[in-house]
Amino acid sequence: MVGSTVYARSTGYSTKDNGFSGCLRCGGSWAVKRPHWTWYSDAGMGPICEECYDELSPEERLPYYVKLWESWGSPEDVDFSLIRQGIGLAEEVI
Ligand SMILES: [Zn+2]
Repeated sequence: MVGSTVYARSTGYSTKDNGFSGCLRCGGSWAVKRPHWTWYSDAGMGPICEECYDELSPEERLPYYVKLWESWGSPEDVDFSLIRQGIGLAEEVI
């Protein structure tokens, strides 16, 4: 199916679909949903769809990013300060 190919982009994660084939919040398949990309350096994370992203506050978005990151094995090259900025959180606690 189409859904599993779209997850992560660029660098080390490019061809891996992270085990998730849809939005981590609503479960909508990437065949019908569009992930909201948040970029850190030259790669991006798209754990939730555009609709869910719009519905959530920055504080509510973060856990999905953490969950996706953990599913990758918590790689240290992911700069969470950039993720936090990208989703609208100030530079503070996770
Ligand atoms: Zn969603």
